[in-house]
Amino acid sequence: MKVDFLVIGGGPGGTPAAMALASAGRRVLLVEKGAGLGGTCLFEGCIPSKILRESARRLQDIRRAQEFGLQIPAGEIGVDWGAIMKRKAAILRGRAEGALQRARQIPTLSVQFGSAALLGPRRARITPRDGTPEDVEFGSAIITTGSVPNLLPVTGVDLPQVLTSEQVLEIDHLPKRLAVIGAGPIGVEMAQILAAFGTRVTLLEAGPRILAPVDEEIALALEDHIRRQGIALELGARIAAIVRDGDEVRMQYRDAAGTQREAQAEFVLEATGRRPNVDGLGLEHTAVRHDRHGVKVDAKLETDEPGIYAVGDVLGHPMFAHWATAQALALAAHLAGRAARFPAPAVNTAVIFSIPVVGIAGLTETEARSAGHAVGVARYDYRADARAQVSGHAEGFLKLVYDQSSRAVLGVHVLADDAASLLGEGALAVGAGIAVETLAAAIHPHPTLSESIGTAAREALAARASSARR
Ligand code: FAD
Repeated sequence: MKVDFLVIGGGPGGTPAAMALASAGRRVLLVEKGAGLGGTCLFEGCIPSKILRESARRLQDIRRAQEFGLQIPAGEIGVDWGAIMKRKAAILRGRAEGALQRARQIPTLSVQFGSAALLGPRRARITPRDGTPEDVEFGSAIITTGSVPNLLPVTGVDLPQVLTSEQVLEIDHLPKRLAVIGAGPIGVEMAQILAAFGTRVTLLEAGPRILAPVDEEIALALEDHIRRQGIALELGARIAAIVRDGDEVRMQYRDAAGTQREAQAEFVLEATGRRPNVDGLGLEHTAVRHDRHGVKVDAKLETDEPGIYAVGDVLGHPMFAHWATAQALALAAHLAGRAARFPAPAVNTAVIFSIPVVGIAGLTETEARSAGHAVGVARYDYRADARAQVSGHAEGFLKLVYDQSSRAVLGVHVLADDAASLLGEGALAVGAGIAVETLAAAIHPHPTLSESIGTAAREALAARASSARR
């Protein structure tokens, strides 16, 4: 078989890249080794974790029903874990079927379920899930094979009670006790979700704070929420070993003071990050370079092997679905001969679905200072916000980071129950280099959380006026 483009991996990077190139009339073969299109995000990541979170958040709100003048008979709120898992399976199935249907409507796109390995710079072997291997020749290839969980090199990590982020989303019952290793986005999200369902959670983090790359004030405020939720958060914890104890396990670790401690748990969630997945890809038959941080590419996402490109988690951080898709669409436009704007890390947007949610667009205050900007920071506190008070979630704050000379918005950082819905405007402001004056002049509807962006921008204007008066 001969194609113009071979796309290896059908996640948020590979699927849109393949569909965009095929829609531009190129012959594309998309190879996915899993059972459907959607990748880690759909089957083991973004979507299943958010489905569990949705049930957890609704449960939290129902428990507060009386505050809202609603009467729910005591003792009748229960969790049907099986029904939650069924709902999850149905949503995932529907989304995977939808993606495959859309792909099959494009005549020049072939989807093959199986694994691909490069045999050389223009040749690959496709081993179907059922069937005999076939070699394919391609004009160009896009590697978008994603990432896999990192496992700590400690004794006991191979015990059946020690779960990866993928396995924890498949557990068949709600555990009584869970220990989570790693307070990155996945560890924090899962710890808070299961704690909301009633699991007793211990969250162990080796570093001095949670969510290392997030704005420090936001991370510290979220630590407070985590503790108030009843989660035992231990910072500076060094895991020594995990040992079996009957049906459960004991996590042995040293706390920040160096004292040996133990945490008993039914399951341990290993959430110590992910590594780029190049296993069995045959990169050694090409000039593609990679190390533990990922495949190496230039500014147009081309590897050292001309004609072989890479996008998404396989490039290393930032590992987010929308980032993989943004790179994929820019690359597809470029390869189809159209003008393309490749996304720059400084305009990255991310949402961490903690409780409350953390929203990030662009540079943090610290990053902006390190990049040499004359940084201004304007704030907004949701305790006084109308919408936040009405919704019963008057907590958190927003930080608007801007350049005092150019006036351009450099970053929008939010901790709020509904931070996710503010990020679109934040991403636009940062990506387009919009001035704080423009944001301040935009009419933000009342009562919505979006008013916080306008109010913070007006605070930036007031700060300038008062320094001019001095
Ligand atoms: P992937 O989605 O990993 O897709 C790669 C695909 O390649 C896989 O389907 C794999 O089967 C296939 N593949 C691998 N090797 C081969 C081969 N040799 N041949 C053929 N196919 C192959 N991101 C967000 O933006 N928001 C979130 O809320 C979020 N939540 C997450 C929660 C969890 C628990 C996890 C684990 C991740 C989460 N992420 C989230 C991250 C997100 O899932 C990834 O950033 C995203 O899936 C990366 O897309 P990708 O296309 O690069 O790789």
